[in-house]
Amino acid sequence: MNDIVYLDYTANTPVDIQVLDYFYETSKKFSGNPNSHHQLGREASAFMDETTMKIAGLLNVSPAEIIYTSSATESNNTAIKGIAYEYKEYGKHIISTPLEHSSVKSVLSFLQKEGYEVDIVKVDSNGQISVEDFKKKLRDDTIIVSVTAVDSELGVTQPVAKIKEILSDYPNCHLHVDATQAIGKIGFDVNGIDLVSLSPHKFYGLNGCGLLIKKKGVRLEPLLHGGTSTTKYRSGTPAVNLAASTYMALKLALENLDERNLAVSKLNNYLRTELLKFEKININSPQSAIPHILNLSVEGIKGTVFQRMLDEKGICVSVKSACSTDGMPSEAVMAISGDRRNALSSFRISLSHLTTMEELKSFMDIFGQLCPI
Ligand code: PMP
Repeated sequence: MNDIVYLDYTANTPVDIQVLDYFYETSKKFSGNPNSHHQLGREASAFMDETTMKIAGLLNVSPAEIIYTSSATESNNTAIKGIAYEYKEYGKHIISTPLEHSSVKSVLSFLQKEGYEVDIVKVDSNGQISVEDFKKKLRDDTIIVSVTAVDSELGVTQPVAKIKEILSDYPNCHLHVDATQAIGKIGFDVNGIDLVSLSPHKFYGLNGCGLLIKKKGVRLEPLLHGGTSTTKYRSGTPAVNLAASTYMALKLALENLDERNLAVSKLNNYLRTELLKFEKININSPQSAIPHILNLSVEGIKGTVFQRMLDEKGICVSVKSACSTDGMPSEAVMAISGDRRNALSSFRISLSHLTTMEELKSFMDIFGQLCPI
């Protein structure tokens, strides 16, 4: 068997050794519970505060705006359910997009069963939401707009600044942005957004930790009850080592953002050029998508089947996002192409600055053997 070629960095990134070292170091150093009223507790608490301050500094928010969670899934759930329950007296109308991750879509379906009304905004052939349609769907009883900054299947970026501007006329409506595929990959300004979700395992941090940025003044009904934490919005003993690892991953990702992006853009250009030599393929990610994600379809072959064929040859790619494996056509690809067969054939290649040209050449060799002419 050939060496494995990992092209699924959107699903998970390998942990950076500096992140792991810092996690190990801080795990050894801080054994007290930050909530304990003794010396080891106070030391852990002081380090936790210092770490939160540094994360807040990197994101340009205040430390009180940081909520530690276990994942972006939890951040999305906390944000959307939290607003829906807390502000229900202002209305029960929610707006979202067809490109959301299952951790947003499923919360919306759950809330629909509880009597909330959900409207999905139309997107154009480049995957961007129609601002006109968005304006039409906005109502006085809209309490949440939940939009992904960059979707995980196509890599389309959304006009978040424009959405924020439109919402300034709707004081009862909160904006939640799932920035899981944006932060740590592309420049993204969280400032002024009510709620922002992110996850360090998407930028060489550890799994099992996530962040929710909550703008000052925004209230949330918490999902969890009991147990003191750093905030009342998410209880449980503060995980000093995971917070420290989050800080290190974010710091490294932001420091190296431009250099890494340039490397990934070059790899993406190479892949697009090589793939376009094949007649039976359709590149679904628009040119404007982030370079880390390249979604394509091979005509007449289901994405799940092609993914398995690649897997047998040691190539790791994903069909839809790693979190949904129900065999249904990709809703994101359907939304931009309107073509069910194309959506059923789609799969996603995702790249990193760690990806080498040799790996992409091996991928193209194998792709050439498997793709019908
Ligand atoms: N949102 C998006 C856009 C994602 O890509 C993912 C991960 N695939 C998530 C949310 C969920 O992240 P986590 O794995 O941290 O729960």
